[in-house]
Amino acid sequence: MPLTPPDPKYCQCEVRPAHSFMTLGPRPKARQCKAKPKYIIAETKATDGEYGTMTLCPECKDKFIMQTSGRLHEYIIAEIITCE
Ligand SMILES: [Zn+2]
Repeated sequence: MPLTPPDPKYCQCEVRPAHSFMTLGPRPKARQCKAKPKYIIAETKATDGEYGTMTLCPECKDKFIMQTSGRLHEYIIAEIITCE
């Protein structure tokens, strides 16, 4: 699978809507977060021979940090500086 290049326009996080087991019907699908990214995250270890990168908005960046606690040293997080 080819790596998706970092997207400077949109956060590349996939948002999974909260799902209650009381809800009937199919699970809601993950959708891409379309917020404006403020951070870029790069792997410091190559996965499948490639270094993954993705852009994240501040909210998804915080979630990412929570989810990867203990493995954060495997990533570089840099703030995106833009001229507007
Ligand atoms: Zn996001």
